[in-house]
Amino acid sequence: MKRVAASGSDLTDAEWFRILDAWSVCAYCGADGVALQRDCVLPISRGGRYTLGNVVPACRSCNASKSNDEVTSWMRRRRLDEPAFLLRWREIVVGFATADADGPAEFEQ
Ligand SMILES: [Zn+2]
Repeated sequence: MKRVAASGSDLTDAEWFRILDAWSVCAYCGADGVALQRDCVLPISRGGRYTLGNVVPACRSCNASKSNDEVTSWMRRRRLDEPAFLLRWREIVVGFATADADGPAEFEQ
């Protein structure tokens, strides 16, 4: 069984591209065609880490606005679709876990 790196806090580029691929737009407001930044859903200051299960792409505006806020209360304040985000986020994270459970990735060219 594959073990996650002990620190669990370093997102690899490959993982970041997987996340970007899964969302393709800002996870919070759905902004399309903008630069997307890594955002920890659970902020680092609240015990979050840069992991496949905690990082989502955010546009500059959302990233700056959310900062260290707790995600659900922040989304409500901004009148963003929090239930839709949580549902999508869960689906994507479960999708990652399911893909990883299928065994080690084979890199066939
Ligand atoms: Zn956004």
